[in-house]
Amino acid sequence: MGPSDVLRRIAFLLERAHAPTYRVRAFRNAGDALDAAGAAEVERLAAAGELRSLPGIGDTTERIVIEALAGQVPAYLQTLEGEAADPVATGGEEMRALLRGDCHSHSDWSDGGSPIDEMAVAARALGHEYLVLTDHSARLTVAHGLSRDRLLRQLDVVAELADELAPFRLLTGMEVDILEDGTLDADLDVLARLDVVVASVHSKLRMDADAMTRRMVAAIASPHVDILGHCTGRLIEGRGRKESAFDADVVFAACAHTGTAVEINCRPERLDPPRRLLRQAIEWGCTFSIDTDAHAPGQLEWQPYGCARAVECGVDSDRVVNTWPVDTLLEWAAAHAA
Ligand SMILES: [Zn+2]
Ligand SMILES: [Zn+2]
Repeated sequence: MGPSDVLRRIAFLLERAHAPTYRVRAFRNAGDALDAAGAAEVERLAAAGELRSLPGIGDTTERIVIEALAGQVPAYLQTLEGEAADPVATGGEEMRALLRGDCHSHSDWSDGGSPIDEMAVAARALGHEYLVLTDHSARLTVAHGLSRDRLLRQLDVVAELADELAPFRLLTGMEVDILEDGTLDADLDVLARLDVVVASVHSKLRMDADAMTRRMVAAIASPHVDILGHCTGRLIEGRGRKESAFDADVVFAACAHTGTAVEINCRPERLDPPRRLLRQAIEWGCTFSIDTDAHAPGQLEWQPYGCARAVECGVDSDRVVNTWPVDTLLEWAAAHAA
């Protein structure tokens, strides 16, 4: 591994271990700086003790580069690899082995930390057959959500990557906001063009239960929506956030009726839906999608969190849409689009 590959591997492993994005970004930026300088210049600077003249190279990264240039596995990387030898969660190994892809991910086009191609390459390296790119819609301005024009441009970018990534498939999608009245925050003609659409509530999470139920059911009933994202909106780390209140029987009955999958969101701070609601959704005969909602490449490794919960609660793998062959998944998603 060359020094810049080592720095990217470190970034990946830090993300996997829940490190904050700013800390991870320093390693990726340092890797980019090495690539921009070129191998010969990096060797020259290292020999002259001047690596820190490159942007983003500090004490830690300098030491890593010197060790990598000497043909050693840098100590920093060794420690992380040792920690990564253990799975992030246990109990869902068989389910995880059946997953062929991930239906919820973000790039730096919205609030993700990495370019589209890096997300796709990381998903491919995990053994996935496909990744659905689901950046946020425009209303989520804090997440730099995509306007119609930007989404259309993104479709071109994804199409251009297809040959390079084949046979891996980068599928088009969006995590579209469910607005207060249950309508979707995107033009329906564009949503109809996407392979897979996740719809999520991100605003007014505290509205009263009747209104929230109607709001969610309206979105579920849309022919464009394939997956209901992180249904309660709860956060279970840091200051946390309570679950939204809604009539889960009505919501899950609607999902079962329309064939909209209930997402099992794998982010450790979400783990949404909670177990009792997951069991309720199983009772209603819902389908599920076990997705990482990754905002960085290393987070694509978080599926075991959701798999463990799915198995614990008794989800049948046949009901999990991302265990299906990609063409079956696409047919299912297209059957929703009017
Ligand atoms: Zn979301
Ligand atoms: Zn998301």
